[in-house]
Amino acid sequence: MTTEPTTYDLVISGGRVIDPANSIDAQLDIAVSNGKIAAVETGINTSATKRVVDASGLIVTPGLIDLHTHAAGGIRKPSNDDFMVSPDVAGVTAGITTILDAGSTGALNVGGLVNYLAPSASTRLLALINIGKMGVANLPEVKSIDDIDQAASIEVIQSAPEIIRGVKARMVTPGITALGNDMPRAAKAITDEAGGFVMVHVGDIVAQNPVAADLTPTLLTDILSKGDVVTHTLSGAVGSLLADGSLISQAQEARSNGVYFDVGVGGRNFSFSSAQAVIDSGFLPDTISSDITAMSRHAGPVFSLTECMSKIMTLGISFEDTIRMVTSTPAEILGMSNEIGSLSPGSIADISILDLVEGEFRFHEASGISAQSSQAVKPVLAIRDGVPQPLDYGPRPWGWLPTQD
Ligand SMILES: [Zn+2]
Repeated sequence: MTTEPTTYDLVISGGRVIDPANSIDAQLDIAVSNGKIAAVETGINTSATKRVVDASGLIVTPGLIDLHTHAAGGIRKPSNDDFMVSPDVAGVTAGITTILDAGSTGALNVGGLVNYLAPSASTRLLALINIGKMGVANLPEVKSIDDIDQAASIEVIQSAPEIIRGVKARMVTPGITALGNDMPRAAKAITDEAGGFVMVHVGDIVAQNPVAADLTPTLLTDILSKGDVVTHTLSGAVGSLLADGSLISQAQEARSNGVYFDVGVGGRNFSFSSAQAVIDSGFLPDTISSDITAMSRHAGPVFSLTECMSKIMTLGISFEDTIRMVTSTPAEILGMSNEIGSLSPGSIADISILDLVEGEFRFHEASGISAQSSQAVKPVLAIRDGVPQPLDYGPRPWGWLPTQD
């Protein structure tokens, strides 16, 4: 007696499946039906499957999540080539299924993102509003208390909580000189009322103002609380997690309080030496994000989230750990572990297919200092809600891979 093969919409066959949420690292097939993960097994019979993707020799992971992007392209100016990318450039066309825009817009202009950008993107677009009410449309976004509108911020989060997940505050000059820690306190007051979490940018890349270093300890231990996020964990700027080259004790204290630590690679918010100092202290970041902008996508040093993952691997962090840092942990931060960030049957079929390529790759920080690695992560395909999405050509003349020696 034979049983009829199950009819699936899509099967991804023969890949190395890495699903940290379920402690899976094995060669398996993944079946998708109605936009959901239907089965994760060996040897799925595909004779009744509508579409089969052969992932032999490739890596299959939960859809990658970029927790820090600037993807409100088109909202600020008719052309945003100077700053922001469109959601799909940071997202599905780079192999990434979910992105969080981190404060590109504020309470008074996030409507464009919610009403026009998010519905038209193939990428799952979520956002934090900037504590500055106009976002980064008019830098610096916080010059005085007049740039913060708490009531409007609470109102917009409550009106679109499925997209707006909280508030972003950058601890940079002049906001920190004008307001000090009253700026992140205002962000906390908003999420305390409206829900969501606060993400703070540490490290005063604007002015390297010593005030930043005075504010960070209190910020970490007395203002941020469980579920909040510190971005630029591996920064060496004044006010980062390093003081005189050593990790400040408040970082560990904040972590034990449930605060998360994100990388936010970006440009001047990352250096190999500060990264090594933080990691050598035994302090591994929780998530890897790109902080991608139009500039850093085209001219570097960001290029893509997958390149940021490769860059972090040069610090001795394993490929398997980097996958956790862009899947299950960011999903947990977003409160979406039941929907995305894993390949558990029944969850949303957001899937990334990657290639781990061998070579002599070189990665640069903004200062020009570089590090070398024998591996690079290359995107192959993003699947959003069960639907394969085409990649674009990539940020370099030769495509997605980093520079080779
Ligand atoms: Zn940023």
